[in-house]
Amino acid sequence: MPPSASGQTQAPAGAPAPLTVELIPVLNDNYVFVLHDGSRAALVDPAVAEPVRHWLEQRDLELEAVLQTHHHSDHIGGTPQLLRRWPGARVVAARADRERIPFQTEGVAGGDRVELLGHTLEVLDVPAHTRAHIAYLLPGELFCGDTLFAGGCGRLFEGTADQMHDALQRFASLPGSTRVWCAHEYTESNLRWAARQRPSDAALAERLAVVQRRRHQGLPTIPSTIAEERATNLFMRAADAAELAELRESRNHWTG
Ligand code: ZN
Ligand code: FE
Repeated sequence: MPPSASGQTQAPAGAPAPLTVELIPVLNDNYVFVLHDGSRAALVDPAVAEPVRHWLEQRDLELEAVLQTHHHSDHIGGTPQLLRRWPGARVVAARADRERIPFQTEGVAGGDRVELLGHTLEVLDVPAHTRAHIAYLLPGELFCGDTLFAGGCGRLFEGTADQMHDALQRFASLPGSTRVWCAHEYTESNLRWAARQRPSDAALAERLAVVQRRRHQGLPTIPSTIAEERATNLFMRAADAAELAELRESRNHWTG
């Protein structure tokens, strides 16, 4: 496309503004994700309201939608209060979790498409951490809640190792450059555990070193990419559900 007089590339008329994705660290280790086009915003899993409201107001962003991945309070806790500030905002959540996410305005299920800020998100059913957990996919951006973590995966509270294995294999088939926006900063401890399981794995050791440097500098390790997870996430590398179950069991009891 031709550059404009100011030297900036002009989007073709009618094309949606590109979305920026940013993260807000809240609580101990949660991340709230913001998708915005410079004036309108959507949130994924606002655990709390105040810091998120402040972040949006400082940037003069109008909240249009909240996307929920699952019903746990560290994911939906801030939504009711944000709705009081922005009463017109939509709340997209699993239809199957209407009782546990009662303020949803748009119930969705796997395969549904969600129109958001001029872009289209795909909904993926990924029951495992909870029975109605969903993920949202934009081309190049995966919002996976507590299903896949950088170097790890979510606990199996209401689902099975089989379901988690299936979800992680579907994620693994996405383009390697897809950014993984998982909801917790668990990366360092996941990779320390993984390196203990596979002491001679050079790729794992190298990733752990990079992650530790970032954490020492107080920087987030999120997003990671599908390519990084394919290479160094033991749960994604698990050959079958039985191997994943064994890894999950070991991770559950690891206190290092
Ligand atoms: Zn959770
Ligand atoms: Fe969580």
